[in-house]
Amino acid sequence: MNIIDQLRIGIGHDTHCFGLGSFLMIGGVRIEYSRCLLGHSDADVLLHAISDALLGAAGLGDIGEMFADTDPANRNIDSAKILKSICEKIYAENWMIVNLDTIIFAEKPKISPYKEQIKNRIAEITGIDSFRVNVKAKTGEKVGIIGREEAISAECAALICKKKLLYISGIFVTALYFR
Ligand SMILES: [Zn+2]
Repeated sequence: MNIIDQLRIGIGHDTHCFGLGSFLMIGGVRIEYSRCLLGHSDADVLLHAISDALLGAAGLGDIGEMFADTDPANRNIDSAKILKSICEKIYAENWMIVNLDTIIFAEKPKISPYKEQIKNRIAEITGIDSFRVNVKAKTGEKVGIIGREEAISAECAALICKKKLLYISGIFVTALYFR
């Protein structure tokens, strides 16, 4: 297999609207707030974006195909479980996560105090080192559904590589070193 076939990139995007409630789940972290996000699962907008980015990178479709919102078994499901099972699936196909770059779009609540906690939680769920995860937060500048505080969105870019690539480059580096 050509070396360029050993690397894949994927993107994920998700949006959930606000509803009545007292906390949000973002990146697997519980954030106390005067409202919640509505959804069939726990509405963790960031974990859904990461899940879709990884599935896209591995060419495995999308989160809706794997965890249909029409299936009662998925009602109120913990999105960390969804992401974990997607990771198991891609790791079983010998993919490794190189890095995840994420953005949370929220006017309120303020996400920056939670960024480090979210980053560490994503690393824990996916089983990768936290330096491979980046979390950014943006507001909606008071316009659009984010700025009007109607919803929160999230995006993720994921790069994955076949374990074999690391093996091949390891041999290459070793050969260079000892030549
Ligand atoms: Zn979602």
